[in-house]
Amino acid sequence: MKIDLHTHTRQRSSCSRLDEDFLIECSIRSGLGGIVFTDHECLPPKGTLKRLNDKYHPFRVFTGIEICISMDDCLTCSLQDFIVVGLDNPILESSWSYDRLAEWVRKNGGWISWAHPFRYDKALPREIRDNPPDAMELYSNHIKAELAPRIRSVAEELGCQLVGVSDAHRVEDLGFSAVKLATPVVSDAELVRKLKKGAFELVKGAQ
Ligand SMILES: [Zn+2]
Ligand SMILES: [Zn+2]
Repeated sequence: MKIDLHTHTRQRSSCSRLDEDFLIECSIRSGLGGIVFTDHECLPPKGTLKRLNDKYHPFRVFTGIEICISMDDCLTCSLQDFIVVGLDNPILESSWSYDRLAEWVRKNGGWISWAHPFRYDKALPREIRDNPPDAMELYSNHIKAELAPRIRSVAEELGCQLVGVSDAHRVEDLGFSAVKLATPVVSDAELVRKLKKGAFELVKGAQ
C-alpha cells in the first residue's frame, strides 16, 4: 500500500489548488492506497475524514497537520515545518516550540517528521539535533535533489527514518514520491506504528 504522507487541500490551505475530492481521485489514479491531509496549522474535521473514507473505501485518508515553528536559537534557519501524523487533538492547531511539540507528539502516540529539511539554509537547528523527530523528508517537490546527501547523513547521525512525499499543492505535484507499506493499514494508529518501526520502502515517481 503506497501512502503520500504530505498533501494540501484548498479547503484548508490557501496555498493549495487541490480540492479534496479531486486530490483523492488523482491519488487513486496514480496508484496510491492512501494519503495524509497535512494542511498548514489545520486538522481535517473528523466528519470530513469519515465522509471521504466511506466514499472512497478502500482508499484511506489519514489525519495529519503541518506546523510551522520558529526555532529560537538559529538566525538563518529560524522557520521550520513539521508534519504530525495520527493525532487529532485541536491543541495541534495552536502555536508551539519545537521541544514542546516533539515531546507532546511522542507522549500521545503520534509521528513527527521534519518537512523539507534545509530548505532555506543548510544549518541543523540545535533543537532538532538535541531532540530528533521520528523522520526527515528526503524526497518532495520542495526538496532540491542536491540536498539528498546532506539529508541522508544528518538522518543517519540523528537516527531518523527517511520518507518520500509529494507535498502536493497542485495536480502536477502528485505522485512525486511516497512510502510503500508491505500490508494495508486502515487506522491512524496502525500507520503510526508502521512508520515508527520503519516498516516501509521509499518510492519515487508513479511506480
Ligand atoms: Zn502550502
Ligand atoms: Zn506542506
